[in-house]
Amino acid sequence: MVELTGVSQRYGDVTALSDADLTIARGELIAIVGPSGSGKSTLLNIMGTLSRPSGGTVRVDGHDVAKLSDRELSALRAGTVGFVFQQFHLSPGVSALDSAADGLLYSGRPRADRRRAAEVALRRVGLGHRLFHEPHQLSGGEKQRVAIARAVAGGPSPASGQAGPRLLLADEPTGALDSRSGAAVLELLHELHRAGTTVAVITHDRDIAASLPREVRLWDGRIEYDSAAPTTSGSGR
Ligand code: ADP
Ligand code: MG
Repeated sequence: MVELTGVSQRYGDVTALSDADLTIARGELIAIVGPSGSGKSTLLNIMGTLSRPSGGTVRVDGHDVAKLSDRELSALRAGTVGFVFQQFHLSPGVSALDSAADGLLYSGRPRADRRRAAEVALRRVGLGHRLFHEPHQLSGGEKQRVAIARAVAGGPSPASGQAGPRLLLADEPTGALDSRSGAAVLELLHELHRAGTTVAVITHDRDIAASLPREVRLWDGRIEYDSAAPTTSGSGR
């Protein structure tokens, strides 16, 4: 699903990511952990083609990202990748239904169609009874579920037989939530994974990281440990 080879990201004299090799197979569920500033978000944004690295090769769903035009890259992202962030990024005054439908804004599908898909996604995350609630009327956990519904509503058209994006990238999705809402959001990620979505989740929570099938640890811009590659792993701290 994702293949990074020798990927680096520099910002001026800051090296946010250094020579990262990482392969994520279709259908994996992986945790990305590491201290603040270790390069986790940089790595996730590169995996999701939100930013182009300063060096190395990025392949997403078989495409060499460097060889795609901006337009092709947008199409790949819209059809393949869903994002969830710690700060839900919901617009004030916009209903859950319209927020979730935003996930399909670049799909080329008509508005009524987008809203229908959004409703299906909201039901899938257990918010079928909150379609017309606005962000200020929702709890933190519910807001994050709307954001997940937005990510899930995107992806290929239902005609392809696939529900939701093939790749879901979550950057500390439970970071702003109490433990109970966080657990519900995590369960949702597990459900999407069971349904076939490849999921990478950045987390500060050691229990969450330990509960996922694979753990990748960053330290100072380097991948210092990968539970899927025990023979080449670092200190295993
Ligand atoms: P994490 O998500 O692990 O906290 P980040 O990937 O956000 O870490 O950042 C890694 C390093 O790169 C940090 O030192 C950060 O300050 C720096 N950095 C990230 N984005 C930028 C940017 N757009 N411009 C300059 N420096 C950046
Ligand atoms: Mg971050």
